[in-house]
Amino acid sequence: MASEKEIKEIYENGMNILEDLTNNVQEIQEQVLEEILKSNAGTEYLSRFFPNGEADNQSFKTNVPIITYEDIKPYIDRIANGETSSILLAYRIIQFLLSTGTSGGQPKLIPMTAESFEKRMSDLLLSDLVTRKCFSGSDEGKSLYLYFIKPEMETPSGLKASFFTTFYFKTESFKNGLAKFFTSPIDTILCLDNKQSMFCQLLTGLLQRDEVVRFGSTFASVLARTIKFLEDYWRELCCNIRTGYISDWIIDPGCKNAMSLILTRPNPELADSIQQICEDKSWEGIIVKLWPKIKYIHCIITGSMSQYVSLLEFYGGGIPLVSPIYNSSESSFGINLKPLSKPFDVSYTFLPNTAYFEFLPVGKDGEGKTQETWTDDEPVDLANVKLGRYYEVVVTTLAGLYRYRVGDVLKVTGFRNKSPQFQFVERRNVVLSIDVDKTTEEDLSKAIMKAKLILEPLGIMLTTCSSYADTSLTPGRYVLFWELKMKGRNDLPKLDAKIMEQCCCIVEESFDFTYKSHRKGGAISALELRVVKHGTFDELMDFYVSKGVSVAQYKPPSCLKSEEAVKILNSGMVGKFFSPKTMF
Ligand code: AMP
Repeated sequence: MASEKEIKEIYENGMNILEDLTNNVQEIQEQVLEEILKSNAGTEYLSRFFPNGEADNQSFKTNVPIITYEDIKPYIDRIANGETSSILLAYRIIQFLLSTGTSGGQPKLIPMTAESFEKRMSDLLLSDLVTRKCFSGSDEGKSLYLYFIKPEMETPSGLKASFFTTFYFKTESFKNGLAKFFTSPIDTILCLDNKQSMFCQLLTGLLQRDEVVRFGSTFASVLARTIKFLEDYWRELCCNIRTGYISDWIIDPGCKNAMSLILTRPNPELADSIQQICEDKSWEGIIVKLWPKIKYIHCIITGSMSQYVSLLEFYGGGIPLVSPIYNSSESSFGINLKPLSKPFDVSYTFLPNTAYFEFLPVGKDGEGKTQETWTDDEPVDLANVKLGRYYEVVVTTLAGLYRYRVGDVLKVTGFRNKSPQFQFVERRNVVLSIDVDKTTEEDLSKAIMKAKLILEPLGIMLTTCSSYADTSLTPGRYVLFWELKMKGRNDLPKLDAKIMEQCCCIVEESFDFTYKSHRKGGAISALELRVVKHGTFDELMDFYVSKGVSVAQYKPPSCLKSEEAVKILNSGMVGKFFSPKTMF
């Protein structure tokens, strides 16, 4: 696993490595596929497609089907239940990664091997190198990176399953490598209580204020939460700094111990200066005021994270936002070679040694919406994608995924040497998204179907509904709009708060593992249900029709992206209800 020597090699030689990779895309891709087939063609899964035993790159493309998770799930389940992993892949699985995508409400399990971990790490290091090169002086200081872990799960076979970051922060390679550049002591990152962890990480970041040159996390949503936490806790943080004592609700032994090594004396001067900044009426630019040497903010800000761009621009006071990498539990995909790009112009360059990539062409309809992907269309190789076109990415890895549809739609925006650069367009089927949760139209409609069952015996009908992700508050929440009426009449039903709250609970109960774990961890607030009066959704339709949508084809959107549309529904609101604050 990425040793100190390997990290050094990448930092010293990284730019040459990148030149080589981006210049030899086709050759490297062919080699990667050959290697995957050489190792894995004999597995139970793949051997079915090569009845003559000849597994070359060409027969791979003609014989092996393009699949989704559901197609390999039976193999994954067998491995999770104790069968040998060689039914799917040749290399040993070190553990499963949990993907935020779900299958039937359960998190997807993706095999991880030592080799796939290394590939990921080398992409992360290359991306870090490119970013540091752009900002002079950023090598010298420390990173205030807010990272959190989640409990691991164990499959019946004894193999662990966790999110990638949880795995990574527990490795020796992190402890002996990048950890020394972080202001957060490892034990504060490894604390399972997110609130204690956040408090201690912010405290150590404030104590080392003058050394911090990078502020970041994995996703922009975490930084939005961090700022909200700072708003709620800055007085207490200042008090800890002033007195030199940690708050007594910090009881996690790891956190307590780590803090005792850093919070060693009262520091009233530092507390005063932080207090003065935080007491300012406007928090515009608070990040740069608190950490004046910061060169850039580092986190993913594309895709569903773009909703946090304006917030980070406001609190960051104009410090560049750098979106470093595009990856997933399945594979690493690309890194951002132009860290200074504006958030909405960010593209990721695919590195051909990471996995074998293919691209299914995706069409756009007249309204600019991406259409269904036709898997009968010939997929295109990485070296043959065309500028300006849209594709759905398909990946083949050494770790047991063969022609696997990731579910992301990308647009080709340029090339670095011969390697294409892609802008992230959208995640297929996802309608609602907060933090790293992704709720699909199917999840949402199943949840609503269940909830409305308790209204029917009362003679209440749910006639139309919609939703949106309200991220104006931190943490954000999902909001449902329901238009209700009495059966046979257009009257508004009498709304019993208890029953309506029960509907909220049923919807939340029915959401998937990722939603529930984020809701439990405080990354998502209680779901809100807004009941609107009869006719409100007609006004919504009038609005869309006025924008050019054909009445014949109009469907109320299951999720609203336009503020104007939300305003229209809000104007018809007759009641709002919430799930209990703590539920899971
Ligand atoms: P997970 O498997 O839980 O790590 O989620 C991976 C998914 O997160 C990807 O398939 C994308 O949909 C999304 N994602 C990851 N990185 C980015 C990025 N840089 N920009 C936009 N979306 C991303």
